[in-house]
Amino acid sequence: MIWYPYAQMKTLDAPIPIERAQGVHLYTTDGHDLIDSVSSWWSVIHGYNHPEINAAIAGQLEKFAHVMLGGLTHAPVQQLSDKLAEWLPGDLDYCFFSDSGSVAVEVALKMALQFNTNRGSSRDTILALEHAYHGDTFKAMEVGDDEDYHFAFGKHSEKKHGVVHIPTETAALETAFAEYGDRLTCFIVEPLLQGAGGMRMYDIRFLEKARQLCNQYDVLLVFDEVATGFGRTGNRFVADLVLPDILVLGKALTGGYIGHAVTVANRKVWEGFWSDEPAHAFMHGPTFMGNALACTAALKSIELFEREDYLSKIRRIEEITRREMAGFSDPRVKEVRIMGGCVCIEVYDGTVLDGFRKFAYERGVFSRTFLRYMYAMVPYVIGEQELVRILDTMKAWFCK
Ligand SMILES: *Cc1c(COP(=O)(O)O)cnc(C)c1O
Repeated sequence: MIWYPYAQMKTLDAPIPIERAQGVHLYTTDGHDLIDSVSSWWSVIHGYNHPEINAAIAGQLEKFAHVMLGGLTHAPVQQLSDKLAEWLPGDLDYCFFSDSGSVAVEVALKMALQFNTNRGSSRDTILALEHAYHGDTFKAMEVGDDEDYHFAFGKHSEKKHGVVHIPTETAALETAFAEYGDRLTCFIVEPLLQGAGGMRMYDIRFLEKARQLCNQYDVLLVFDEVATGFGRTGNRFVADLVLPDILVLGKALTGGYIGHAVTVANRKVWEGFWSDEPAHAFMHGPTFMGNALACTAALKSIELFEREDYLSKIRRIEEITRREMAGFSDPRVKEVRIMGGCVCIEVYDGTVLDGFRKFAYERGVFSRTFLRYMYAMVPYVIGEQELVRILDTMKAWFCK
């Protein structure tokens, strides 16, 4: 029996069985052709069954699929860490790999904590954002702020040991630093776009102010770009605009091929562990960190991103989306938000979206709404007609 995610198994709508996927199309076992508006939780940026990524993985598979990084190393993980060091902004050069975004967030939080204990500081508080989502493991839940995901664990998460949440407003930021500044290990944010918390978008000036306050109070700034990284906001990384001390990447890292993530630290953080003292070593090590197939997929994915000028593809997606959504309104709709390769229609009452999945399915689109949000985060290789089809389907739901 498969236990499906975020679902009451007793009343679960049967999942759609997929036989084959190609480009932006999902082909069901009973012959339906669906345009994918979700990119398999925002990760499949090159579309499915990409010949070059397939070939790269097959090539590595001939050599080996996996060896552990405890005492061993290999070319794909070295090449990927070199590539990331060169490609990522500033001195974000030190790559700690792990198998999922949640774990990579845990790694970032542990790094920030131990960075402080290594220097003899007793700082123990984390600053985070309201409506944040950072993953489903326990500490990631605590820095997260969405009861819609974690209500069942209220007893354990309501205490939020040493986590303070603020809205994305500069006044709140200043107040929080004035009150907690010298107790903070880090400030963790999903920069510019809060995904699972409802595709909420906010201004870069908030992050500029955060950078300034983190410098002033000697607090590490952590960007969780598991969702926003690799172009989703229209920027390659939000870290290109404001430089964090620690950057977390996941989801699209491997082009959605294999679960993998990386926590990238800057030189300051790295040096906080560099010591003759064995106890200052970073004590973490996921079994599958640096998996050779995942690293190979990631390298090819980054190569495609650069070579095929993905930022221009994303700009085009945003232009088409703005054009198609212009003038759309409905009394049930609270707001339409667009940023880069993300569009979200927020409704006042989530029950308004009941039945949309089937409606979309019948129109050849795969969509998965959540709570009060109908959204699209398409693969960047999508054609104009296919994108328009998705957006038309979203709008049509309100005109039926
Ligand atoms: C999806 C997500 C995570 C968790 O990643 P998993 O690979 O699902 O563990 C963490 N942070 C953000 C911002 C995410 O969108």
